[in-house]
Amino acid sequence: MQPLVARMWPYQASVFSEMSTLAAALGAVNLGQGFPDTDGPEPLKRIAMRAIEDGSGNQYPPRHGLPELLDAACAHQRAWYGLDYEPSTEAVIGTGASELLAAAVLALVEPGDEVIVLEPWFDIYPAAVALAGARAVPVPLTRSGDRFGLDVPAIRSAITPRTRALLLNTPHNPTATVFTEAELTELATEVIDQDILVISDEVYEHLVYPPAVHLPIARLPGMRERTVTIGSGGKSFSFTGWKVGWAAGPADLIAAVRVVRQHLSYVSSGPFQPAIAAGLRFPRSYFTEFATDLHRRRELLAGGLRDLGMHVYDTEGTYFVLTDSQALGWDSGAEFVNHLAHEAGVVAIPVAPFSTGRFDSLVRWTFCKRDHVLATALDQLRRADLANHGVNRRQ
Ligand code: PMP
Ligand code: GLN
Repeated sequence: MQPLVARMWPYQASVFSEMSTLAAALGAVNLGQGFPDTDGPEPLKRIAMRAIEDGSGNQYPPRHGLPELLDAACAHQRAWYGLDYEPSTEAVIGTGASELLAAAVLALVEPGDEVIVLEPWFDIYPAAVALAGARAVPVPLTRSGDRFGLDVPAIRSAITPRTRALLLNTPHNPTATVFTEAELTELATEVIDQDILVISDEVYEHLVYPPAVHLPIARLPGMRERTVTIGSGGKSFSFTGWKVGWAAGPADLIAAVRVVRQHLSYVSSGPFQPAIAAGLRFPRSYFTEFATDLHRRRELLAGGLRDLGMHVYDTEGTYFVLTDSQALGWDSGAEFVNHLAHEAGVVAIPVAPFSTGRFDSLVRWTFCKRDHVLATALDQLRRADLANHGVNRRQ
């Protein structure tokens, strides 16, 4: 018998690491794991380096986060969304959004409770729910045209007396949907009626392409008091390795998250906290220019993939494009990804590991790479035979 606790058996692999390892082994272009191939803003790097050099960042920061970062995270929520949080009681800093998500679930969900997750999901959600001894209840997004949408009637049917929380993610990884005000309002009515908490993962809040608009669900009437909103410096400032995240919510929920989080990593990295604090106070122009630049790359990749005969879904937010390759004869995205890696030297992410089998033909590609890297990937794909000539070919 393996020593790993049984409830974690299903969660041993990380498809992101596996695909990055495969890309490195094959010398393939890696459009799989979502990390930029250029650094974020120089001024933020200098702040982190200075905090190491002058020693201010080299010992344990305060338990719940550096006050200047707690202030900056709350000022950011106020400036962008008109959401008011008190930094000393209604916010907490963590080691990336990942730690805060796990801490929120562990703090708010009892063993045996149910947590609704949208399917396809981000991989750490069901694992966090399992760690808490609770049960993840997947509710699939609906596909209409080139968009995946929230299915509130299905969420309603999935709710039971054991449902404690819903894990929301908007902009959504991997579908790249930004849920609309109408969708979120319908959802809000339901969770308020049923007295369910929402843990809202909004790490891609600034990676949104007009006309899509990011709306934190906490903004809707009656939602602030039942929502923990989570953000991350990794996405907004292109420093995914720094692992600085924040959560904001009403004092009672944040007090609970603080208790659990302090027993996970105790504190988060000293030198990076003042740097992310400065980033959160950047003028709006930084964020809009960042999104505009990503939008250009989105067009480059999405257009190229479409020309290759794949069905390309809309990217309203995030730095991902989702495709379906059934038209090329592939029912299995995982097999298609394997074929691409070996035949074209390009790696992407199959969506199958993030679902219960409903989305097996989908593949996710990231465009947070330099233009010439995207162009090389597309060139290599153009030169390869992408069609499935195998025995399982679709009729
Ligand atoms: N949520 C989603 C939807 C993500 O894509 C990521 C990226 N890894 C995270 C959370 C985790 O963010 P962090 O790196 O800040 O832990
Ligand atoms: N969030 C990134 C992605 O979805 C990286 C995930 C990870 O490596 N855990 O690709």
